[in-house]
Amino acid sequence: MTAHPVTLQDIEAAHARIAGRVLRAPLVPSGSLSERTGAEVRLKLELLQPTGAFKLRGATNAILALTDQERARGVACCSTGNHGRAVAYAAAQLGVRAVVCLSRLVPANKIAGIERLGAEARIHGRSQDEAGEEAERLVREEGMVMIPPFDHPDVVAGQGTCGLELVEDWPEVETVLVPLSGGGLLAGVAAAVKAKRPAARIVGISMARGPAMAKSLEAGRPVAVAEQPSLADSLGGGIGLDNRVSFAMVRDLVDQVVLLDERQIADGMRWLYREEQLVTEGGAAVGAAALLHGLVERPGARVAVLVTGRTVDMDLFTRIVSGEDVDLALEAAV
Ligand SMILES: *Cc1c(COP(=O)(O)O)cnc(C)c1O
Repeated sequence: MTAHPVTLQDIEAAHARIAGRVLRAPLVPSGSLSERTGAEVRLKLELLQPTGAFKLRGATNAILALTDQERARGVACCSTGNHGRAVAYAAAQLGVRAVVCLSRLVPANKIAGIERLGAEARIHGRSQDEAGEEAERLVREEGMVMIPPFDHPDVVAGQGTCGLELVEDWPEVETVLVPLSGGGLLAGVAAAVKAKRPAARIVGISMARGPAMAKSLEAGRPVAVAEQPSLADSLGGGIGLDNRVSFAMVRDLVDQVVLLDERQIADGMRWLYREEQLVTEGGAAVGAAALLHGLVERPGARVAVLVTGRTVDMDLFTRIVSGEDVDLALEAAV
């Protein structure tokens, strides 16, 4: 195992830097999941962050780590989801100009949401890739600074603060369940948790539909996967074929990867709603879903579940928690 680009010291520095700007999300006992599993289960409620997801940690840390000259040039990113919201909010809080590049296909309510958080939405192209090209042009030609969603040391260190708080609040934790997409969250959380508690197990959880990190781990290198509609939309997308930070860290630090089908993800959302009164997006309910379906190997007696976000279409959410069997792949076709 080679030295990783993000260490416990980096995560501690990030924690000091973002203090007061990001919520120290509470870690609350889950009576329902504890009863169901026989283990003591606690939920880290990252969905309470002001933007609705933990990604505020990484974005805030990355912007705060810039030099004054860099901040004066402004920041850019390309994200329709929680990362775009996080960059918009963090930049506005810090008085930095932010441009979030989005494709023409992004729904109007998402664009309005980004603008409401204080960023400029730049509509460019017909795909996420084309929107990404515009963000790169802003970097090349206008000197803006790109804030990537996961594959950057300052972003990973920022996400790692979630794990640092977790082991501070619960030093005896044995297993941590982490939703897994590009792996910025898992890399940071695992680096913090394993530095403080080497015996702890880190379980990454993705959807079976287009799990880019799981396929890349199998192949031994970053590979592309076809994106498919999923209830866990915030876990979709690739890990970057030129991945420099998150892939190697996840490869070295993760103990198990669990893949869930759409029904299992919906079960997790329903359980968190009915038993814990939490509104979660699909990508945030995967930890609970993996526990409910008995998919976590050797969970031990103390299990922490990261409940990462609540950015969900409420009409879709209502259908799911009312018991409807929703398959977004079928709906996308009509
Ligand atoms: C981005 C995101 C994840 C996954 O984080 P990665 O760092 O990309 O692995 C999990 N849950 C939610 C709600 C997210 O927005």
